[in-house]
Amino acid sequence: MNVMVPVKRVVDYNVRVRIKAAAVDLANIKMSMNPFDEIAVEEAVRLKEKGKADEVVVVSVGPRDCIETLRTALAMGADRGILVACDGAIEPLAVAKLLKAVCDTEKPGLVLAGKQAIDDDCGQTGPMLAALNGWAQATRARSLEIDGTSARIERETDRGTESLTLRLPAVVTTDLRLNEPRYISLPNKMKARQKPIAETTAAELGVDITPRLTVLDVAEPAPRAAGIKVKSVGELFDRLHAAGAL
Ligand code: AMP
Repeated sequence: MNVMVPVKRVVDYNVRVRIKAAAVDLANIKMSMNPFDEIAVEEAVRLKEKGKADEVVVVSVGPRDCIETLRTALAMGADRGILVACDGAIEPLAVAKLLKAVCDTEKPGLVLAGKQAIDDDCGQTGPMLAALNGWAQATRARSLEIDGTSARIERETDRGTESLTLRLPAVVTTDLRLNEPRYISLPNKMKARQKPIAETTAAELGVDITPRLTVLDVAEPAPRAAGIKVKSVGELFDRLHAAGAL
């Protein structure tokens, strides 16, 4: 069984973004692999190490800089990469359609995606890919076991831990607790340079990626008002009461 992992290049989670011309200013800022996708790559590589997967294929949709993100995934242990090259912001539905087209040729037994990309927080791509493929799906997995033609998933919900069995092929999205991604060693970084990355485009895959949404505005959150120090718990209660917070 092959495992496919879609990996998105996003602004690094440590960067404090700035808004310029109603968009996040991406000039000269550090970009990284979406943290949930790192967890997905780690899980896929562990499946391979356990003999449950034969090959791990990583796919990124975006500008050519995404090759760097694919190389990171290859250094973690993925076998080969696919870049679907396109410019500009790509909406989750378009990404899901492109990934569906890649699934048609790659025929993975499992797609392991992130539960959400930390740049747009959509959390839509995995479920839409499952729907387009007509496959089972489990979102926000905190554990994953493959058993022949099925996958057993545990996911955390407000009502407790839910256990699911899915028939493969399926789409599973990763939650933070699934694993801790490995440290990438220098030799593995060097080895990753030799691993193959194929390139394709939306046109070659026959997918229309014209945006369907219009972003009306993007604004930074309002700055927080300065705090005050109170002298006693009583004063705190009085002030909270006066502010209508109690
Ligand atoms: P989103 O629906 O945008 O929150 O993204 C959820 C997940 O879909 C991500 O964690 C990735 O696994 C995958 N994904 C989204 N956008 C891309 C992209 N441009 N390239 C590759 N994978 C993506």
